[in-house]
Amino acid sequence: MSDIVKQDRGQLRIDEDECKGCGLCVEACPPKAIRLSEHLNHSGYRPAYYAGSGCTGCGICFMTCPEPGAITVLRLARPAAARQIDSKMQGAVACASN
Ligand code: SF4
Ligand code: SF4
Repeated sequence: MSDIVKQDRGQLRIDEDECKGCGLCVEACPPKAIRLSEHLNHSGYRPAYYAGSGCTGCGICFMTCPEPGAITVLRLARPAAARQIDSKMQGAVACASN
């Protein structure tokens, strides 16, 4: 059994009063980290919200959203251990291709 917890690589902020509740970001998000709220915003739409975990920081929701300013994606710095593993893997790939 592994105790490794996968950390989010991104964080999402949604301005719910800019959201029109179209659901495009909900459909587009690969890890399904966005949902539509049950309550209505000031324009009468069900705004999208971040479900709280799973964001990879890919930015697809931002690119999909037709409403400027509704979505902000923050890419989080990765832990040093993850960067170290990446550089080892790059070394392995470089060795394999030689
Ligand atoms: S940045 Fe990517 S993973 Fe994160 S909420 Fe948007 S679509 Fe989903
Ligand atoms: S794509 Fe934009 S407008 Fe549509 S639900 Fe998502 S945040 Fe709201």
